[in-house]
Order: sequence, then structure tokens, then C-alpha cells
Amino acid sequence: MNNPHPRVIVFKSKRVVLPEGTRPATVVLEGEKIREILPFEADIGSSDIRIIDYGDLALMAGVVDTHVHINEPGRTEWEGFSTATLAAAKGGITTLVDMPLNCDPVTTTVAALQSKLKACSSLLHVDCGFYGGVIPGNTAELEPLIDAGVLGFKSFLIHSGIHEFPHVAEEDIRRAIPILKKGGVPYLMHAELETSPSPPPLGVRSGGGSEARRYSTYLASRPRRWENDAVELMARLAGETNAHLHVVHLSSSDALGTLQSVRKNGVPVSVETCHHYLTYCSEEIPDGHTEYKCAPPIRERENREKLWQALKDGVIDFAVSDHSPCTPALKEKSTGDFMKAWGGIAGLQFSLSVFYTGALARGLDLAQVSHALSAAPAKFVGLQNKGSIAPGKDADFTVFDTLAKFRVEPSMIAHRHDVSPYIGMELTGMVKATWLRGTLVFGEGAGNKPAGLPILR
Ligand SMILES: [Zn+2]
Repeated sequence: MNNPHPRVIVFKSKRVVLPEGTRPATVVLEGEKIREILPFEADIGSSDIRIIDYGDLALMAGVVDTHVHINEPGRTEWEGFSTATLAAAKGGITTLVDMPLNCDPVTTTVAALQSKLKACSSLLHVDCGFYGGVIPGNTAELEPLIDAGVLGFKSFLIHSGIHEFPHVAEEDIRRAIPILKKGGVPYLMHAELETSPSPPPLGVRSGGGSEARRYSTYLASRPRRWENDAVELMARLAGETNAHLHVVHLSSSDALGTLQSVRKNGVPVSVETCHHYLTYCSEEIPDGHTEYKCAPPIRERENREKLWQALKDGVIDFAVSDHSPCTPALKEKSTGDFMKAWGGIAGLQFSLSVFYTGALARGLDLAQVSHALSAAPAKFVGLQNKGSIAPGKDADFTVFDTLAKFRVEPSMIAHRHDVSPYIGMELTGMVKATWLRGTLVFGEGAGNKPAGLPILR
């Protein structure tokens, strides 16, 4: 007799991606957790057990994407919990962490966090944590937000694009640091510092004309120096205070030297980059294609290769999507005006395949991929029960066919708007199934009832 709801589920795969490497193994689940890892040949004989043999498909820890803008409540016409987390499940992502903007209200108060928790209840297809925001004047809200369970805080050193989330100055950062340090949460920073006037000719920045359709115009408007200067400030503050500061979405490879040298001295500054910086290069971005616009911008080919090398060398800790969609109208799809378009790249659903495709070309193995996309980001936000396949951890998995190739079509997209630079891209590696705490949330036989939960620290 086959029990449809066995207490124990067993996965077999010739390629289980474990922290120490990839090998054939049997993974035993019990309820929502991983109970044990046994040799592939282990005999699991009992009537109350369901055995799934994935053969040559890779069994990996679910992807942990710690940088996503879900925009709900308040800007649900841009993106929402249901669509973003469904896209995540389809992409092998089992944990998201939502940014404190561009939702409305922005998550800079406990009341705003509560409204977000209310908005997401019963909509989550994967687990989801939250960041709070540090803005000028909200120091009194930081400790209550930590107590309410945020996983970290985010600030901008430059205009955020949203007037209700103003950027901070050094004194605001210095006020926040002791509170965050005491709370044991990381401080994430959008690291661009407008230290000098922007180079493009007058008039172009406000949009309009053929110059504004050129990607090179936009690239020149946000120079590497802005990032480099911001990273230096972060490194200095982390060095002085010994607080965990984190550089989000690093694009400029020129800042890697600063990061490498301070980290060598034990300064607790960490850094992430994004799939789009590792995938595209400015030389290949067609004019008018605003789906590639993000800040900081995608830079040159040689810059991209340096980011890959830094990831291999451990100077960059991990990679995230920075999924940040808006409406097609705000993306200026009809005009192709880079200077007016909303900056933000959509496409979290394809993260694993996109990263794997790039990693394969540069000689990274599956264990390195899993470290960069699951273990390292889970550790960064303190989610000890996520990010790797080990006894006692949550039974979060992605079943990944490393040989399958596919082309990204608009019809595949589960996030709200089918706008993404990944459309048309040929990718290697396809997600076949996603398991969240022992429940199949994507793949053949998956139900469509949302099984995700909010994560509060
Ligand atoms: Zn972002």
C-alpha cells in the first residue's frame, strides 16, 4: 500500500550537491527537515516511506536570493508576493529576502513591516524574509524593527529613485551602526556616492533625444568612481566600528582591491554581485533596450570577467538577482529612453540557469554554484536552517537538469510583467522540481496552494 502522505520521504540522486562536493547519495527527509544523508546504495525498506530516484539530475539546496524588490503593498502593479514567489519557486529559489523599498509604505517603521506581513499572508509560494530601511530620522525605529524580526537593514548613499526612501549621509550611518551591531544584523548599502558632477552633456540626464536611447549615455552617467568612493567609505566605517557592513550589487571591479585588502585585515565588510553584471556587458547592450537598465550600470566585458574571478577567489561572497521590476510604461519600453526609464532588472526566475550557464563557461563546479547562490547568502542573513543539504536543515531543494538547454520565452515568465533582459537568451541547466520544507512547490505533481512562510528573525 502506498501512503500518499508518508512521514518520511527519501531522495536518491547520483549527484547530490553537498557542502564538501557532489556525490551519489540518499537524502532522508522527515517532515519539514533533512534527517540524514546516507550512501546512495543504502537500503531504506519500510512501508511508510516514499522514495524518489532522481537519477542523474542534480539535487541541490534551494536557492536563497537575499535581494528582491517585491513592491507589495503599495506598488503591486509593479510586482507582488504571489507572482514574485511563484517565479521564485519555478526557478528553484526557496527563500527570498524582500527589500524595504519600493513598496508603499517603505519598511522604515514597525507599522510598515506589519502592513507588509499582512499583505503577504497566504500569498507566499516560497519562504520570505524582510529587511528594514535606515533613512535620515528613523533611528528610533531601528531597535523595534530588529525586535520585530527583520534580517538586516538597507540604506542608499545616493537618490534611491523613491522620494519616501531618502538616502543617508555618513552621520546617519554612524547613528545606525551601534544599534544594528548590537542587534546582530547586517547593514546593507547601495554603494554609489555622487562625488563629482556626472559626465554626460547637459540636458541628456533629463531624458529625450537620440542620445538618451544610447546605452553608452547611461553608462557614462554613473561612473565607476561613484562606486569605488562609496566602497571606500564603507570599508573605512566597517574598519572603525567593526560592524558588519555589506555592499549590495557591486558592479565596478575597480572596488575589488579595496575590498580584498580590508577583508584580509579582518574588517567585516561583505559584498554581493548580481546575475546581470556576471552575464551581460555594456558593449553588447542594444540602444533603446531599457530592460537592461539598472543602477549601478552593467559595465564592460573586462569588468564582468573580473567579477567572475573575484567570485571564484572569494572576494565577492555571493550572487543575487536584485529582481526589481516596474510597469512596462515606467520602463519606457515605447521610447527606449535610458535616462527616463526606471532602473531595475526583472528576472529572478532564471537566476539559477543564468548563473549556471555563466559558471559552466568559467569552470565553476556545482558545489561552487550552490555555495554562491545558497550557502553564502543564507549565512549572510543568519538563516542557519537554510542554504545547504545537511542533517537538521530545512528540506529545501532544487532538482536541476544540468544538461537541458532552453530559450527564455515571455510565456514562461511568472513574475508580473514579461519584461526581462533574459528573454531570448539560450540557457543551460533547467529546474525540474522545487521542494520547500518537504513539500513539492514546483514540478510534476506540485499543488498550487502557497506553502511559503514569512521568516522573522
Ligand atoms: Zn535592489
